[in-house]
Amino acid sequence: MLPRGPEIGGIENRDRTFAISERALELMNLYCDSASPQSYELWFTYVTALKPHLNEAVKAKLQVGTRIGESELHELHTAHFATDRLAAQADATGLGIIAEIDQITNVINVAAGSAARYDASLQEIASGLKGGDESASLRDMIDALVGATREVAVANRALETCLRDSRSEVAHLRETLEHVRTETLVDALTGISNRRHFEETLVSAVVSAAKADEPLSLVVIDIDHFKRFNDLYGHLTGDQVLKLVALSMRETLRPRAVLARFGGEEFAMILPGASLAEALADAEGVRRSVEARELLKRSTNESLGRITVSLGVASLLPSDSANSLLDRADACMYAAKRAGRNRVEARADELAFRVPDAA
Ligand code: GH3
Ligand code: MG
Ligand code: MG
Repeated sequence: MLPRGPEIGGIENRDRTFAISERALELMNLYCDSASPQSYELWFTYVTALKPHLNEAVKAKLQVGTRIGESELHELHTAHFATDRLAAQADATGLGIIAEIDQITNVINVAAGSAARYDASLQEIASGLKGGDESASLRDMIDALVGATREVAVANRALETCLRDSRSEVAHLRETLEHVRTETLVDALTGISNRRHFEETLVSAVVSAAKADEPLSLVVIDIDHFKRFNDLYGHLTGDQVLKLVALSMRETLRPRAVLARFGGEEFAMILPGASLAEALADAEGVRRSVEARELLKRSTNESLGRITVSLGVASLLPSDSANSLLDRADACMYAAKRAGRNRVEARADELAFRVPDAA
């Protein structure tokens, strides 16, 4: 890929790059706990304003807190830079496939050329035979035929070798593409779907449920007092808790469910075919499973106590879009927080609406 903006050479740009760097380091020092290369990349890009969404996200974070911590930095980096790397990988893979196809086309052209020459030799020999051409002896004709056949056999062998090589190269490229595709859909820490896949799946699940006239439920999950946990035990231990929540979600998995981590410490379960009552039961299962685990520090076996989650559940109504369904489940999750945390909530009117179905 071409270098962009201030990375392009030239004295003017060199000065500009230094000015941007200086400002980036200043901001990094003022607002960020980390002085890692990722942090520098983030602040450098922030100063260039090349990614307006990144700048908005940074400003939003700074409005909430005074500094950007390790996990927030990681979150911003994953959201705004990881996709660049994946896009570059996809570009490289795409170029590899084009080169491979070019190579195959060349070999096929050569083979087609020698087949055409073979055909011409055969025609020539045939007309010699028909015309009773005295000057062309039968031996000459046979020699010509053998020569032409050999040439075609050599070209065919080259074609075969090239196709075999290409087959393994294409298989390798397919694997890379598959890998890139998975990386764009999966959350690296927990192994469940990421926000992007979650949003896409929710939209298509809403369309499919309306079309098939079947229920669809959504559970939104948020860890209780997670900031406190991070502050007490550090972000790396906090990350282990995120994995543990995903594990508890997997335990209660129904066949068509899609599990996702769609925010730093926010999770969701899309449950196609599940009624509100079934989704409430699944949500309760996750709540209990998380609560039941005593957290132990691996290195010392020291107990870190237990964590809990608050869950909101909503089921698709005829008037719903993916957004309104998510808003309702989210609002229920906040209701669970207000009601004391470590609980599952759904809207009373939805419960009343659905109870006859569930009976
Ligand atoms: P509440 O019960 O109201 O949800 O309280 P809370 O502390 O969980 O909520 P708040 O939104 O104030 O804080 C969320 C915290 O989640 C802030 C941040 O430290 C943490 N967090 C977000 N993403 C990550 C992550 O990827 N790793 C770790 N370890 N922590 C994260
Ligand atoms: Mg939260
Ligand atoms: Mg929380």
